[in-house]
Amino acid sequence: DLLVVGSANADLVIDVERRPAAGETVLGGDLSVHPGGKGANQAVAAARLGAGTALLARVGDDSHGRLLLDSLRAAGVDTVGVLVGGAPTGVALITVDPEGDNSIVVSRGANARLTPADVRAAVSLFLASRVVSAQLEIPLETVVEVVRNLSPDGRFVLNPSPPRPLPTEVLAACDPLIVNEHEARVVLGESCVSEDPADWARLLLAKGPRSVVVTLGAEGALVADSSGVLSVPSVKVDAVDTTGAGDAFTAALAWKLGSGAELPEAAAYAAKVGAAAVTKRGAQESYPTAREVDAL
Ligand code: ADP
Repeated sequence: DLLVVGSANADLVIDVERRPAAGETVLGGDLSVHPGGKGANQAVAAARLGAGTALLARVGDDSHGRLLLDSLRAAGVDTVGVLVGGAPTGVALITVDPEGDNSIVVSRGANARLTPADVRAAVSLFLASRVVSAQLEIPLETVVEVVRNLSPDGRFVLNPSPPRPLPTEVLAACDPLIVNEHEARVVLGESCVSEDPADWARLLLAKGPRSVVVTLGAEGALVADSSGVLSVPSVKVDAVDTTGAGDAFTAALAWKLGSGAELPEAAAYAAKVGAAAVTKRGAQESYPTAREVDAL
């Protein structure tokens, strides 16, 4: 049903009392290694909900790549499109201080080697998918090739994260473009003249997407298309860790749209999935099954 095109990273996390200065060594807590990257997160989130999901991505021929393949397969993701080799698996080196603030170094590794040619070679995955979902942790030229390879009735969903200005061709294909507040500001650039998220939704829509979703954390989300802007209420939960909530939201929305739901209905479901994801620590480890979503 759903094809995710995007990144796969190993997240290496160490708790520290404080960060080292240049030339200094500090001792940290035990290392924990988690499967991550926005592409892999979205694929796992959708598969846990019960969506038939494939991932087009690139990992290294190394232990981090095998960790990612194992976690994708355990969640039920079709990994035939996960290419191996060309560079080490992407890594995020994360230190967490006692206040809970993260410092992160990202090595893009194999994610930077997912090429337009890799997209063209995956034509059978595109033909089999009603919805294709992408993010921006892979080269932009690869995302451009994705929108050129959609099947005739295929729908494209983009979360432009990390955000950058987008070419018209990509904007025009989005249905919807999904942004949080920071991403909205960067994609709008100088045309971001308002502090009102409903205005961002309208301004983004004017840039060409067929529809727009603005996520607002605990405040829920806004959906916008030619018929206007609608607010989608959030679900009240005790938030423990918001890591990966946006990825879970996007995956759930894309899957529901592919199943024939209208945008407001799909976004309401996605808001429940995002809320469930913030009630547990971690990204992929926090993603709910459909039964857990229904119980909310
Ligand atoms: P991102 O992680 O990309 O910054 P958001 O923080 O906006 O995205 O979260 C995505 C969605 O997850 C929100 O639109 C909302 O539906 C849900 N969500 C996030 N944080 C909370 C929260 N504290 N309580 C309830 N729902 C939340």
